[in-house]
Amino acid sequence: MTNKLKQLLTPSLTRRGFIKSSSAIGGLAAATSAISLPFKSAHAETKSAPGDEKVVWSACTVNCGSRCPLRMHVVDGEIKWVDADNTGNDDYANKDVQVRACLRGRSMRRRVYNPDRLKYPMKRIGKRGEGKFKRISWDEAYTEIVNSLDHIKKEYGNEAIYLNYGTGTLGGTVTKSWPPGKSLIARLMNLTGGYLNHYGDYSTAQIAKGLSYTYGGWANGNSFSDTENSKLIVQFGNNPAETRMSGGGLIHHLIESKAKSNARMIMIDPRYNDTAAGHEDQWIPIKPGTDAAFIAAMAHVMIKEDLVDQEFLDKYCVGYDEKTLPTSAPANSDYKSYILGLGEDGIEKTPEWAAPITGIPADIIIKTAREIGSTKPCAIYQGWGLQRTQNGEIASRAIAMLALLTGNLVSMVVALVHVSRTTTFRLFVSLRLKTLSRPLSQCSCGLMRLFVGQK
Ligand code: SF4
Repeated sequence: MTNKLKQLLTPSLTRRGFIKSSSAIGGLAAATSAISLPFKSAHAETKSAPGDEKVVWSACTVNCGSRCPLRMHVVDGEIKWVDADNTGNDDYANKDVQVRACLRGRSMRRRVYNPDRLKYPMKRIGKRGEGKFKRISWDEAYTEIVNSLDHIKKEYGNEAIYLNYGTGTLGGTVTKSWPPGKSLIARLMNLTGGYLNHYGDYSTAQIAKGLSYTYGGWANGNSFSDTENSKLIVQFGNNPAETRMSGGGLIHHLIESKAKSNARMIMIDPRYNDTAAGHEDQWIPIKPGTDAAFIAAMAHVMIKEDLVDQEFLDKYCVGYDEKTLPTSAPANSDYKSYILGLGEDGIEKTPEWAAPITGIPADIIIKTAREIGSTKPCAIYQGWGLQRTQNGEIASRAIAMLALLTGNLVSMVVALVHVSRTTTFRLFVSLRLKTLSRPLSQCSCGLMRLFVGQK
């Protein structure tokens, strides 16, 4: 065991110390090369038959979004062990990095051969929920599906065929599963008369809906790598070190970009997360679900101290103050009035008001507002965790507002951004087989308080 690993496993380490240490050696994936884990012992197995071994390129298709390349070592059609990318020169500037998979990707063999994984068609023979199934052949399964589809179409119409999102696999190696409306099954359903699509999903339902009202769409922004041009990095609940952690994932962009810009980094998160990992200059713990109140109070400071980018707001935004609202808008329905307590709720969003709600002392709110309001360019990021709450749309829009207030829109990033080498797996099929973008019908919910872009 290496000294570094001993340090990592020493119980007396604090969480902060542990995170800092693991980050310093390139994460746990690097540390495990020194200890015995399943994929390492599987490696030893294959050495007995090296002549028969083939190495096949594949990819990690779990739904983290990075889609790292994997090298499957196959003997007699069976994956014996999994290896990571061994190409690239770690030349970040020229996008020639080695996309080293994390532990989740490296355990793909376990996923493929998991005894609980459905590997062949099963037909229910008991009552729904009873858990009784029998194995059937693929031919029987196709016949069952076709007959069932035909029956439903004739009896109820194509509107009764619902295509759900979420298979546990994202971005197949030879096909495409995202966005769901462009997958091969969607194309097949379109060719048979259409289907009922879903809206929202477990990852991004609130931010996708919320930012449509603010920006007209979501996931718009600069690449994460644009952080290298910023002087200040502000992250709200954004933790790619634990969510997109491979050699080509967002954490790699962040570390490389931050090293270049040497920008100050403020992490706002209830938890001291791995992305902070000793790289942060300030960690602001916040009560979960209160980001909007924190930002409203910072907006209050910025408005009172003339730190908002009025020129940007006047030119590009609707609804910051009354002069960009239509004449038909009710009095004091603009954002500024809402913050100053002149709006419908009559509450002035002062730092003292926000402090007990957020758990952040008023003086820290003031100091942070001054720093964000006076530093340009400032990169403002938000992760997806904070929008997975009852009022998640408002939290995501509040963070977008912070970028708008300070004229840092070009630095606003909420998108999944990949290193180009990690995305090549999904391209060729999608280019050949176009799917329609308009299924039969789509529902949407418009229950929102509108701040910016209100018409
Ligand atoms: S970072 Fe994501 S895509 Fe890459 S190996 Fe890990 S789980 Fe798989």
